[in-house]
Amino acid sequence: MGNWERNVRRVTPYTPGEQPTRKDVIKLNTNECPYPPSPKVAEALAAFDAGELRLYPDPEAGMLVHALASHYGVRPEQVFVGVGSDDVLAMAFLTFFNSGRPILFPDVTYSFYEVWAALFGIPYRCPALDETFRMRREDYLVPNGGIVFPNPNAPTGLAAKLADIEAIAAGNPDSVVIVDEAYVDFGAVSALPLTERYENLLVVQTFSKSRALAGMRIGFAIGSEKLIRFLNDAKFSFNSYTMSRLACVCGKACVEDEPYFRETVGKITATRERVKKELLALGFSFPDSSANFIFARHRRVPAARLFEALRGEGIYVRYFPKPRIDDHLRITVGTDREMDCLLAFFRDYLDRERE
Ligand SMILES: *Cc1c(COP(=O)(O)O)cnc(C)c1O
Repeated sequence: MGNWERNVRRVTPYTPGEQPTRKDVIKLNTNECPYPPSPKVAEALAAFDAGELRLYPDPEAGMLVHALASHYGVRPEQVFVGVGSDDVLAMAFLTFFNSGRPILFPDVTYSFYEVWAALFGIPYRCPALDETFRMRREDYLVPNGGIVFPNPNAPTGLAAKLADIEAIAAGNPDSVVIVDEAYVDFGAVSALPLTERYENLLVVQTFSKSRALAGMRIGFAIGSEKLIRFLNDAKFSFNSYTMSRLACVCGKACVEDEPYFRETVGKITATRERVKKELLALGFSFPDSSANFIFARHRRVPAARLFEALRGEGIYVRYFPKPRIDDHLRITVGTDREMDCLLAFFRDYLDRERE
């Protein structure tokens, strides 16, 4: 046998949340939207001519880029689109994090960041969040090769102050600062307006959570024309046709239906606030979430036990067996009915526990 295995790029892949094949589960484990996408998406799909799939899509995804630019009040040259924000973030790591100096992201955060860093051979350092899971801005005002963090953070749900984000962008003119706003629509303040003033600031968002299109894979970044040009150069060196014709059509229909978007986000945040109160009453505590999930620990019962018990009942939540957070469950906010099932289970289980 030859030695080809010696030359393999070895990576420890990211582990996504489980996608059970059973349909009768209550799925609160991957922060998807519990409601369908805008009915305009279904209409656009129905009107779509399958014959068009014979042709490659527009490599610039112009239809989607223009819809996003007009929605967010920026120039099309400031918008980059990708196959989910994971694709956008990976491309941004590849494009901007090349100094050889360590990039910075929090110790408790989206675990894909360290996977991309390892995949691309980017050194990194993880400043610890404080004991209440908040970022300390001074940790990000030190020499670095780039900065990335979600706002609100995942899996804590905590939103950062815009003043802190601005200080980090302003204090790092030699680095690209990426704010991953996957959950921003559920209650945090977006850093988008800051991209006008800070050429080094890239804001990344997704259609997977607040826009209910996780299955279509659409993400985007907004930043200075210069940042976007560099991103596109890297993308066109890798895969010209990232956005399918269907993704462009559905994404445009989705982003143009603002009333439906507001209604859906409103329902989810109302459910979240109700569930927070009920969880507190059951003996849980959690950072105050501005996202579509709650990162909760129980004062008595270990999270690993609750996780298994829930799973046995067909209620899927996320559990991370990692330092600092292995006593927490990340619970996606589902429909009111789904959350009532979860709460009923907790009430019953915690009662029986006491006996
Ligand atoms: C869900 C999520 C993403 C990626 O979502 P896509 O489906 O790839 O758009 C990115 N960052 C964070 C923090 C997320 O939770």
